[in-house]
Amino acid sequence: MNETAKRARAVIDLAAVRSNVRALRSLAPGAQLMAVVKSDAYGHGAIHCARAAREAGAPWLGVALPEEALALRAAGDTGRLLCWLWTPGGPWGEAIEQDVDVSVSGMWALREAVAAARDRDRVARVQLKIDTGLGRNGCPPADWTELTAAARAAEAEGVLAVTGVWSHFACADEPGHPSIAAQLAEFRRALAVAEAAGLRPEVRHIANTPALLTLPEAHFDLVRTGIGIYGVSPSPEVGAPEDFGLRQAMTLQASLASVKRVPGGHGVSYGHHYTTPGETTLALVPLGYADGIPRHASGTGPVLVAGKWRTIVGRVAMDQFVVDLGGDHAEAGEPAVLFGPGDQGEPSAEDWARAAGTIGYEIVTRIGKRVPRVYVDSEAPDRSAQDAALTGGVA
Ligand SMILES: *Cc1c(COP(=O)(O)O)cnc(C)c1O
Repeated sequence: MNETAKRARAVIDLAAVRSNVRALRSLAPGAQLMAVVKSDAYGHGAIHCARAAREAGAPWLGVALPEEALALRAAGDTGRLLCWLWTPGGPWGEAIEQDVDVSVSGMWALREAVAAARDRDRVARVQLKIDTGLGRNGCPPADWTELTAAARAAEAEGVLAVTGVWSHFACADEPGHPSIAAQLAEFRRALAVAEAAGLRPEVRHIANTPALLTLPEAHFDLVRTGIGIYGVSPSPEVGAPEDFGLRQAMTLQASLASVKRVPGGHGVSYGHHYTTPGETTLALVPLGYADGIPRHASGTGPVLVAGKWRTIVGRVAMDQFVVDLGGDHAEAGEPAVLFGPGDQGEPSAEDWARAAGTIGYEIVTRIGKRVPRVYVDSEAPDRSAQDAALTGGVA
């Protein structure tokens, strides 16, 4: 482990990413899998996770930003890759030249994609996105006939190929929510309009991880899965990762920076929102909101220290927070495990989401750049160095 990783580290188990991809593929056997690696693979590292997903048989990768797609190409990825969050003036030409499938939700975007393709004398691979009810990106149904007809005309001219028609759910993480059926019906209408316009897309897709896990009729030709490949549940209603054979890939741990005895009545951290009820031992964990620890977890966040779950006492500061060990003993340098797959009895990302009033997605994605990512492979033959990293051993 390098020097900086001694303070704290996010250990990423690439074998977990691979086995999650395999498990998710087997849960959607009729569909291709797109591994969503936007936002640096939800904080896990896009390049490493993209490679692991490809090794486990993901034919597609998905990202939000064109810059994210181009970074994957620069790192050597050559497979199918969809990029969906464009703004006017975006790097359409570079993306088209690098064989990125680009998503188009409106006429301005179609015009920019067509112009860039003509410019470079390439055929743009375009996926048309319909807003079936999320109310975010996507073409409104009222404009869909115009968009599909214009795309078909450009296709006939040989400047683009419509490779996909797709949409995104608003409430798939709340199984049974009435908007789910309404969005599916709208999606089927949009597919019929596209077909009537003469489009024959390779892939039709609407399912994210929660729809993949709970709604087989939404799988169509492809499933876009992000949070599932990192082994974190989309929501308590959908279920726990282990219900689907998924394993959390990230373990966040730190080395205690200080352990000390203090008398009763001692205030702890900014604002003195906690006062020791009696003589006790306080342990200092060198991670704070600058590292992505939610300040909302002040007084609530769970941490495994010296064999037991402890709760953050007082406020989470920029760089550090405190846990009260009561009568227990620990030494500076011993590990504090914030969350992980549970092998050591540590809390999960879902436990942190509950403690901070947020979702597991945000817990893992927000872990900051100051926390080094340490990659391990629990399936690799030589495990000695990795075991040291996984148990927080300071090598
Ligand atoms: C982030 C994202 C996904 C992945 O969602 P998960 O719930 O993480 O599987 C799929 N599609 C789109 C459009 C997204 O933005």
